[in-house]
Amino acid sequence: DIRANDVHNEIDDEKRMRQRIALSKAITLVESKSPTRRLMADVLLDRLRKSANLDKDKSDNSCDSFRLGIAGPPGVGKSTFVEALGLYILGLQKEGANEANGKSEFIPEKLAVLCIDPSSHVTGGSILGDKTRMLNLSYHPRAYVRPSPSSGTLGGLGAYTFDAASLCELAGYALTIVETVGVGQSEVELAECCDLFVLLLAPGGGDELQGSKKGIIEVADVLVVNKADGDLKSVARRTASEYKKAMGLLRKPVGWWGSAQDKSSKCETSSGHSTRSGQPAAPPVLLVSAKTGFGIPELFKTIVSYKNYTQTSGYLEEKRRKQNRYWMWKYLRERLLETTQQDGRVRKKAEKIEHDLDSGLIAPRNAAGELWSSIVDSTDKYNGS
Ligand code: GDP
Repeated sequence: DIRANDVHNEIDDEKRMRQRIALSKAITLVESKSPTRRLMADVLLDRLRKSANLDKDKSDNSCDSFRLGIAGPPGVGKSTFVEALGLYILGLQKEGANEANGKSEFIPEKLAVLCIDPSSHVTGGSILGDKTRMLNLSYHPRAYVRPSPSSGTLGGLGAYTFDAASLCELAGYALTIVETVGVGQSEVELAECCDLFVLLLAPGGGDELQGSKKGIIEVADVLVVNKADGDLKSVARRTASEYKKAMGLLRKPVGWWGSAQDKSSKCETSSGHSTRSGQPAAPPVLLVSAKTGFGIPELFKTIVSYKNYTQTSGYLEEKRRKQNRYWMWKYLRERLLETTQQDGRVRKKAEKIEHDLDSGLIAPRNAAGELWSSIVDSTDKYNGS
């Protein structure tokens, strides 16, 4: 009955809206710098993780969610691309592709996008540029698009992006896309935040292969040359073949995707570099047009093939283990630095040590040792010991 359907739809809309508001509030909480709110965020993350672990079938070792990182220089078409990819993925479910070939594929029902906004630390908050640019995706009932401020201290990637992505997963988003600008060293950190890292490149580029920008190429799992349409198509092809040549010189960690690409080497999406079995292959270089949709299905196939392979091989689980450790130490360094800067006594001591350092009265390593002792003293004082 049509009226009953309308009521159901309305209830679903309302539920979805409330869930999104709750997720937004939770992300704002983990991004907060206030000590009280930070404590609340710690408790929230802890509780959510514990209840998710309780819900999880212990015999099921698979990673049911996936994080995709997308980086690229300004103007390369990241927003257009994320929107095109996002809408393509969300459209798959409608087509009932979930049971393709009798086996279940990775067709996320819901999709979250975190846009790390480089200009936000000037204004102290996130500008809405990306959100308004990804209009169709933002208004899609099964998508959540969130511009997040990037932290000044950590470069392009927000310190709490990792937590924000975890929150999206805990809220039931099977796929989280983290999008950030730039191809500099600081964005290399995005690789520590995602399962698969896609680097988006412009036709006719190639600067990324030089100097400081090389780092981001080395951590990318897939290279995508965008704007392969119209007059730019032939330039894009040339650019892709230049990258393919360069990729052949790179070596990825053992256990990476090598054998999967070996098996699918007939596929046009492969970089074309054959590998001896067990040897890591080079990252594939793909051509897409975010504007026309060209290459988007092939790219998604590549993403799913990576996910399936790394999940089965155990590489993904190991990668996530390493990432968790990476972030633990990162948070510790951040907190240590904050304590040093915020504690009056430690700050005073640091000023004196700096003065002694300037006058050549103390060596840098001894200065660090002294400063460390005063941090320990001040922590002991807080703990009442
Ligand atoms: P971002 O700064 O990397 O997020 O780039 P945008 O998504 O804002 O795109 C920058 C410009 O490139 C816009 O004018 C887009 O219309 C254009 N653009 C994005 N993708 C494509 C594409 O696939 N083909 C062409 N021809 N233009 C594109």
